[in-house]
Parts: sequence; structure tokens; C-alpha cells
Amino acid sequence: MASRILRVKCDDCENEQVVFERAATEIACAVCGATLVTPTGGKGDVHAEVTEVVEAR
Ligand SMILES: [Zn+2]
Repeated sequence: MASRILRVKCDDCENEQVVFERAATEIACAVCGATLVTPTGGKGDVHAEVTEVVEAR
């Protein structure tokens, strides 16, 4: 199953951080706590702007 590592930019504070697209748990912005990725049972629901695909495998 393909999984990607994404660099995303928080909509609220513009912090960039690296997240797994297929997150098992909710991922929050490290700076402001906004939800960046919500698990959906498959591919995560990404709420932030994706600025880069770091790795695809
Ligand atoms: Zn933020």
C-alpha cells in the first residue's frame, strides 16, 4: 500500500512540518495545535496545504 510523507503548512500559523499521509492518529500542528491530518481508516484527510511530497514509496 502506498504511503507518502508530506511536508505541510499549517493554515493558521504557517508552520511547516512533516507528516505521514496515512496517519493512525490525529496529527496536530506543533506550534498552534490546529489539526493537520485526521485519520480516516485509509488515506488521512489532510487539512493543511501540502508544500512538498518528501517521500513516496
Ligand atoms: Zn499552526
